[in-house]
Amino acid sequence: MFCIKCGREERTYDSLCASCYLQSNRFTRLPEHLDLQQCAHCDEYLMDKRWVKYDDESDAVCDHVSGNLQLREDGAIKDIEIGVESIDRKSYQVHVSALVRYEDLEIPEESGTLVRIKRNVCPKCNKIMGNYFESIVQIRPSNRRFSDEEREDVLRRATEYVEGIGKHSKEAFIAKVTQTHGGYDLYISTIALGKTLARELTSVYGAEHKESSTLHGRKDGQDIYRVTYLVRLPPYRVRDIIELNGRPYLVQSTGPQSAKLRSLRNGEKLTMANTGLRDVKVIGTRSDVLDAVVLTEGRRELQLLHPKTYKPVEIRKPQGFERTGDTVKVFPYEGELYLIGN
Ligand SMILES: [Zn+2]
Ligand SMILES: [Zn+2]
Repeated sequence: MFCIKCGREERTYDSLCASCYLQSNRFTRLPEHLDLQQCAHCDEYLMDKRWVKYDDESDAVCDHVSGNLQLREDGAIKDIEIGVESIDRKSYQVHVSALVRYEDLEIPEESGTLVRIKRNVCPKCNKIMGNYFESIVQIRPSNRRFSDEEREDVLRRATEYVEGIGKHSKEAFIAKVTQTHGGYDLYISTIALGKTLARELTSVYGAEHKESSTLHGRKDGQDIYRVTYLVRLPPYRVRDIIELNGRPYLVQSTGPQSAKLRSLRNGEKLTMANTGLRDVKVIGTRSDVLDAVVLTEGRRELQLLHPKTYKPVEIRKPQGFERTGDTVKVFPYEGELYLIGN
């Protein structure tokens, strides 16, 4: 037999000599990326529909790759070597050298893939967690309803906080989230975590929080309590504009005890205790702040093009204000234009 491509006379495979045949045929193949699911709670790995425990993660990566190595039906693996190299904490570069037998040939083939570890929850842990919680953090708005975006922002902050702690402790997780009363109920795995989460939210948003516990039952001769933390968010958020004593103020920051405000009338800074701001009226949010084109700038004032009426208006520059662009941020309120900043 001779090769129809190069004419060499020797044994052929699909009318090609071994060398020509192998130029256009491969037996092993790996996807560019492989995701390996790991349970965030029990650390088991999902290996082809089964959750399996591994002491060494690189062994799991190795098995996952060999399980996903595609082999042409008419070839057989005679020998395989898998090299696992960690790129960062959650991804591995994997190199595979396989020796494939096909008819009377033995062909060495190289391939590689990137394995990423993805956090997931195995069905067993999911079942335990869905029912198991020791505390509930109730997040509620006060007199003002929050937009979906604002609400989601609170939830994101809470989840990120718990996930951060969950990296070091398997006991820390949110078992369940429900939307209720314009806010959320977060079912938290432990009392300690519920408490620190409530404190964190209170501190970030300048909220107030209350704690109450109820007897839930007895286990091994001990009373089991469930603790509820009510976190009531203030009506305002950072960058909102509130009215205080009939004057507009920008909320510059919120904290556990007080909020920092800036008067939009004269730029004066003010620190107010959270308790003094519980019922304050929000007159504007981020979306009410507009860009205004600066026409001229004097020593003490700015002439702007009103973003709504397109008429030139003059406003006084707050002390220390230095413009950085062609426009400034303004807040129109009750016929007046207030400068928010750059
Ligand atoms: Zn040939
Ligand atoms: Zn698990």
